[in-house]
Amino acid sequence: MSASAEHGSQTVESARRTLAARLKAAGSEAAELDARLLVGAVLGLDLTGMVTGARRTLTKDEADRVEALARRRLAGEPVARILGIKEFWGLSLQLSAATLVPRPDTETVLERALELLRTDGAAERALRIADLGTGSGAILLALLSELPHAHGFATDISAEALETASRNAAALGLSERATWIECDYGSGLTGAFDLIVSNPPYIPSADIAGLDIEVRAHDPRAALDGGADGLDAYRALISHCAGLLTPGGFLVVEIGQGQSGDVEALMTASGLSPTGPPKADLGGVPRAVSGRRLPR
Ligand code: GLN
Repeated sequence: MSASAEHGSQTVESARRTLAARLKAAGSEAAELDARLLVGAVLGLDLTGMVTGARRTLTKDEADRVEALARRRLAGEPVARILGIKEFWGLSLQLSAATLVPRPDTETVLERALELLRTDGAAERALRIADLGTGSGAILLALLSELPHAHGFATDISAEALETASRNAAALGLSERATWIECDYGSGLTGAFDLIVSNPPYIPSADIAGLDIEVRAHDPRAALDGGADGLDAYRALISHCAGLLTPGGFLVVEIGQGQSGDVEALMTASGLSPTGPPKADLGGVPRAVSGRRLPR
């Protein structure tokens, strides 16, 4: 049997199904979706193309490439890392080794920030927004996409992350409203900002080894590790914020499980007033804590 006849038995549909079954057997939670994305990536097909092209057969090279990606996924690499792309707030974002894979949980930070600005009537103004530790730029770029008059200032200690974020801004047509600053949290910024957001590293160092392999082996440690109690980044960044916020300005941060009381206390100690209870993510976990510098 020739190589092409051997692979003639594998259609787009059967490749997708076989891979989904293997991923499912390995305990993958999103096996169907992952299989569709991986086979689609090799063949250059979106969802519609996968359906209309379901019966086309794979060449040997395509089958080999599907197998290579299947092995990476089976070894615990997230699909977003394999593809180098993740959807966040409806925006397609490129990733790099220096950036977290943006999580749906982080959309809670966006929701809280937009609620606060809209209640305040601020959303129509030419806001100045800062995102401390921007990574892929996910939070800042989503905010800029919602607030057409706003200008964003994003910091990161990693030059590679800032390059990734600025490429994302360019791809989304947002470059003119974004400024990139290489520094630790807010240390390289001068105020005043109407809104500061951050999803800093917040996992206690000792907990990292117990995280899922997708996270512990593939997200950058610097974006996860919050020190002994997980709160190091909040201590550093919240103390910068009171001086960077305009009177009436808001700070919204993502938090890890059980951190809301401590983070609210740090905000209060820096002169910020909590703006209500933390906002929960889709899993019901308090995920976004917000505070406000009192208006003069
Ligand atoms: N949300 C990530 C996780 O739980 C952590 C991200 C962070 O530390 N900011 O794996």
